[in-house]
Amino acid sequence: MEERGQRSNRRLVLVPCPFQGHITPMLNLGSLLHSEGFSIVIAHTNFNHPDPSGFPNFTFASIPDCLPKDVLSSGDAAAIFASLNTNCRGPLRQVLSDMMAKDGATENKISCVIYETLMYCAEAAAHYMKLPSMALRTSSISTQLVFSELPRLQKEGYFPSKDRSSKDPVPGAYPLRCKDLPFFTSDLETMMQLIATTLDTKTSSAILWNTADCLEQQLSDQLQKQYSVPFISLGPLHKVAAASSTSILEEETDCLLWLDKQANDSVIYVSLGSLASMDEGEFAETAWGLANSGQPFLWVVRPGSVRGSEWIELLPGGFKEATQETGCLVRWAPQKDVLAHRAVGGFWTHCGWNSTLESISEGVPMICRPCFMDQNVKARYLCHVWRVGLELEGDLDQKEIEQAVRRLMVEEEGKEMRLRAVAFKDQIELSIRKGGSSHAAIEELVNLIISL
Ligand code: UDP
Repeated sequence: MEERGQRSNRRLVLVPCPFQGHITPMLNLGSLLHSEGFSIVIAHTNFNHPDPSGFPNFTFASIPDCLPKDVLSSGDAAAIFASLNTNCRGPLRQVLSDMMAKDGATENKISCVIYETLMYCAEAAAHYMKLPSMALRTSSISTQLVFSELPRLQKEGYFPSKDRSSKDPVPGAYPLRCKDLPFFTSDLETMMQLIATTLDTKTSSAILWNTADCLEQQLSDQLQKQYSVPFISLGPLHKVAAASSTSILEEETDCLLWLDKQANDSVIYVSLGSLASMDEGEFAETAWGLANSGQPFLWVVRPGSVRGSEWIELLPGGFKEATQETGCLVRWAPQKDVLAHRAVGGFWTHCGWNSTLESISEGVPMICRPCFMDQNVKARYLCHVWRVGLELEGDLDQKEIEQAVRRLMVEEEGKEMRLRAVAFKDQIELSIRKGGSSHAAIEELVNLIISL
């Protein structure tokens, strides 16, 4: 087998999708493959470009994306991804072609293009340039399984859900109820087209998953039947190989000092990720629910995430005074360090896949408050399959929030969830060690790249 030291002339071109929850796993994958000896090139859109100074070992190639401001601010995911792929196709091909022209005179060769499935133009560009490619999926296998069932569920009249509060089970889609099916804010036909395109990885040699067998092996076996290329589950990538900071926003690290002053497992950490938002009424209910729970809380209010305000101007009067002792508010937290802190005992999350993996990997149970897309699916798995979370359903109400926080942080039910979450943490630690499934998957990936 080729020695690690001989691999530096093998270049891997990684093409992330330019949003926080997608950039992070791709950069982590880059760190992992760099530690295996490969040279890493990140081909990134100008939009949301990561800071190259944090990655001295990588080469960065910029792709002009010409993403129109009105498309971006529309929040219409299908339109944004369509525009990104249309605009990046040509420039990406040019980047690959320039690199190959330079390669002619050197030992360096592009061994493979690894792209996030939402950047499907990279697969076409690689194929055109006769380069091998692999797809990275940054969401869960459970989500993809549901996505693959959507055309059937649409035919059978279950999707899109006519009643978004219906708790009727969806046939053939355990553990989902009608209300748990994905919720899209984009035009349905365009969204279904996008999903079909990302599910069909045409010419790729493998599909890489940021997941672990202890969570999704059975689902992986089920979905694998629909594909002829291997599935490689090598996550959680942030545990396997954390890149230096991948944050687009600046992290407020002072909150770790605040956590140092709190008792073990006492703090509820609240964050809705990089995209979700709430209105003024929901913000006020959340504020009073947290305040009245009596538990210490660390609350991330991302600038712009409360509709109609810049940051926390819409906090209800009296809230700051009432929570001087118990609350800490930040714009953006060093989330992985927060979840690993001994003082954090629970996480109120929107159930983004990175947040889900980061929480489970630290043995932190969750209050699940999904907002859109496939977050309902993950909430359902968290609460009813892995049983490490409780779902906060319906309109946000301060009394219910207060109760949910107590159930998770103080009551027996929450303690049991914490024990199950800690058991997953242990299993994940085993899976990334020698002899574990993710460790073996990394070897499989390295061998596959070398064989291409
Ligand atoms: N995150 C962070 N600080 C925060 C909030 C979130 O670093 O204050 C990170 C979090 O660790 C995760 C990512 O942002 O890696 C959010 O990704 P996720 O898939 O959970 O949700 P998305 O933002 O894509 O909805």
